[in-house]
Amino acid sequence: MKTVLITGASRGIGAACAELFADNGYFTVINYNRSEERAEELRRKIEADCGRCMTVKADVTDRGEVRRMISLCEYHGGGIDVLINNAGIDFYGTFEQTEPHVWDEVINTNLTGVYNVTYAALERIKESPCGRIINISSVWGTYGAACEVAYSASKAAVAGFTRSLAREAGPSGVTVNCIAPGFIETEMNARFDEAAVKDVIYRTPLCRTGTAYDVALTALFLSSEAASFVTGQVIGVDGGFI
Ligand code: NDP
Repeated sequence: MKTVLITGASRGIGAACAELFADNGYFTVINYNRSEERAEELRRKIEADCGRCMTVKADVTDRGEVRRMISLCEYHGGGIDVLINNAGIDFYGTFEQTEPHVWDEVINTNLTGVYNVTYAALERIKESPCGRIINISSVWGTYGAACEVAYSASKAAVAGFTRSLAREAGPSGVTVNCIAPGFIETEMNARFDEAAVKDVIYRTPLCRTGTAYDVALTALFLSSEAASFVTGQVIGVDGGFI
């Protein structure tokens, strides 16, 4: 049985990935930071559907907690075959409103968090016969977004991280790819009103917003044998927005 570690899997895109990977026979490690009850609810749901999983609390910005999480993956999952770096936060406000502590929090979570977990997990992933790292970037990392400078910068950096690590990890048989979702209906976007959502839909060739399941399906594809010759890519799951 392969093991997948999904950061930020208590809700949204990460939770959809957890359900889909568990349904597809993975031992699924559900990482959460604050939403313990949501993570436990998801664990119970997966187990009720005969899936195998566990929850692990770790703040991706805390290297000690991250190391402990990787040890637990080894102990209970026998290693790590697939790592999905999904945990992320956003900040919506002008550049002038992006105070230094806000900048630090966004970069620490969205970029340094990806580094922290990958750094701690890479040796284990290299031991897998089919190691995969999937990072969740964003269309805004490519396109740029007004009022989301820190977020967009962090997500652009995740794409650069992906392309570079793919070159380094390729000879070890590990693929490293990035998914750049468009507007996905999760709590992260709950602040946008109906008019803003309509505007996004108007600018999206497939005429709808995305779902967490759309992103999870692409993550499953990148983890599959069908994607064994795919690495260093940034794959848009955005309905054609870019
Ligand atoms: P949600 O806000 O719904 O969920 C965010 C998840 O990240 C939660 O599970 C949360 O865990 C976790 N998280 C946040 N900070 C930390 C931390 N320090 N350590 C561990 N976990 C943490 O967001 P989405 O599901 O929408 O987003 C998931 C990813 O997809 C993010 O990286 C986001 O940037 C990206 N994305 C989202 C898009 C969208 O339109 N929704 C578009 C493009 C990219 P907890 O609640 O337990 O603290």
